[in-house]
Amino acid sequence: MPGSTTAAAAWFTLRRRITIYPPEPAGRPGVCAVCRGPARTGYARCYQCAQHDVLGPGLLADAVVPISYAVKGTAFAASLWRYKSWRSPDPAARLSLLALLLTFLHDHGRCVWRHAGMAAPGRLAVVPTGCGRPGPHPLLELAAPYLRLPVAGLVIRPGEQGRDPNPDRFRAERAGPGASVLLLDDSWVSGASAQSAAAALKRAGARHVAVVVLGRHVDPADRHSAPLAARLAPSGYDPDRCAVHPVSAQSGNSVGLNTRCIE
Ligand SMILES: [Zn+2]
Ligand SMILES: [Zn+2]
Repeated sequence: MPGSTTAAAAWFTLRRRITIYPPEPAGRPGVCAVCRGPARTGYARCYQCAQHDVLGPGLLADAVVPISYAVKGTAFAASLWRYKSWRSPDPAARLSLLALLLTFLHDHGRCVWRHAGMAAPGRLAVVPTGCGRPGPHPLLELAAPYLRLPVAGLVIRPGEQGRDPNPDRFRAERAGPGASVLLLDDSWVSGASAQSAAAALKRAGARHVAVVVLGRHVDPADRHSAPLAARLAPSGYDPDRCAVHPVSAQSGNSVGLNTRCIE
């Protein structure tokens, strides 16, 4: 069909324009099984992800899927701030992040839902910014028209701002009883905000929450992060690899199965 051929060509063009810092495998020593940040030798999770257990049983996100690392000092890391600049949001950063997100969800959405143990999401939410700026979140504004999912709102409860994991930090609206929620975050630093948001959604009735993160922050100047940062390099976007890609598909298949995660 000419229409599908045109769409395939458009996705192909988008993929070729994308550069990421691919997440390291979860099982690699020194890599956190949840967020893919630096973990101490002998530990499956990083210090921060282990702290998230205080949120309570069953309230953590069912999947955390970083699309890329955001290495401090790189153009990609800067774009994660510039796209939502209060005074002058950068149009180029907005466009490139939107292309990255939509391409990733097109190619790997199914990987994410499978990893979270859920069907395709029925709700969309975005982790609020720490400062509690008024109006819709810039990432929600960007992505919502394309994802066309009902939005589950997340608002910061007065007096609950902070950096620690806190199941009371956010109030979730219209989470939908039993819903599967796609929760987007632009930057994962400690993950406390994203996991607190996941907890709020689950307390409001969501059954599953899958977090997709544009950039997992890594600071090369931090001594715990330096060994990981030293291994990271920019790379072309690979439609056959993601942080939670099925192992059998990742190793390649010679029988021509369609392993892409197209909706
Ligand atoms: Zn972690
Ligand atoms: Zn995948």
